[in-house]
Amino acid sequence: MRFSGDALTAAILVCNQAAAFVSRLALQQRTFAVLELHRLAYHPVRAQVAGLGARAAVRAIARVAGAYANRRATKKPAHVFRPYGAVPYDARLMSWNRDARIVSLWTPTGRVTVPYTGRPEDLKAVEALPIGEADLLYRRGVWLLQVAVTLPEPAARKPINGFMGVDQGVANLAVTSDGAVLPGTALPGPVGGNGHVRTLRERRHRQRRRLQRKGTPAARRVLRRLSGREHRMMTDLNHQISKYVVREAERTGRGIALEDLQGIRGRARAHRLQRRTLRSWAFAQQIEFTRYKAARVGVAFELVDPAYTSQACPTCGCVSRANRPARGRFVCTRCGLAGHADHIAARNIAARGVAGWAVVNQPHATGLPSARRDRESKPPASAGGS
Ligand SMILES: [Zn+2]
Repeated sequence: MRFSGDALTAAILVCNQAAAFVSRLALQQRTFAVLELHRLAYHPVRAQVAGLGARAAVRAIARVAGAYANRRATKKPAHVFRPYGAVPYDARLMSWNRDARIVSLWTPTGRVTVPYTGRPEDLKAVEALPIGEADLLYRRGVWLLQVAVTLPEPAARKPINGFMGVDQGVANLAVTSDGAVLPGTALPGPVGGNGHVRTLRERRHRQRRRLQRKGTPAARRVLRRLSGREHRMMTDLNHQISKYVVREAERTGRGIALEDLQGIRGRARAHRLQRRTLRSWAFAQQIEFTRYKAARVGVAFELVDPAYTSQACPTCGCVSRANRPARGRFVCTRCGLAGHADHIAARNIAARGVAGWAVVNQPHATGLPSARRDRESKPPASAGGS
């Protein structure tokens, strides 16, 4: 099979020219979100760059929006797209025939069909796994297509020692059903513990209030920077917390349970974790980080109903507001069980994780155990080439 390298060269030049044009336009008009940038740049870029088709134009705009996705990038000079830099191809710009090992790529002069080869393990991955985007580039006389594939996640193992519950809170970012308070001494890094985090936050809070009262453009700029810094600090902490939680659950053969914050929007009273935006953003982020880190290592993950997790007694089941005599403290009015309120909540969450897992994974709890073994021995679904 033959293909024209000239057509691919033209494709790269055209796509990078388009991206460079859109990039300048984005910065001039201070427009970086993909939808607005599309409205702004689609027609101009098609008029400006000859041979750029509709799909390539859409891709170029998305690429520029991606380049400016973090706020710092929007402060710098226009993002540079070198004429011969790698060009991302998505599913609309390429199609694969994996049996014949050929890929069809968009170019300004029509599609070209190109045979491909590679290292045996890479070819195997491309054959068997779902293909995402690919970067087309020319290096040292060879056309390369760097392909992103989606690795299958291992199926979640059956937790042999129950679940580890994680209570997310305002005072403590996370408390596990083992009683670990996070961030705390269990985590590395400069932030010593929740006390330290709180102090930092309170200082920021006061600073914010002061700046908001001022209301000058300079004050607003400082506010934006502060919020970025706070977001980065929370993101870093959430990574550390979720890493610790997943490692601990994996080591002890347990699943992980957290409160489901999505399903409670409709309720009359806001859940205690949903009251402040930055916080609820951080709680959702911790759930997401924990979910994907758990999936990566095959640790079971459950989101549980958050109702009354802070008022219920994990020992006798008594649910009452009176079980919370003081802030941060739990004392069961029926059986006398007492402890750190977040720790008790985490134990409730862990118990609900066990129950939730059983409902989903053992629908025939009274049936034959072999039924379950069959389900588990089934290989995980993967989109193989057919
Ligand atoms: Zn009790």
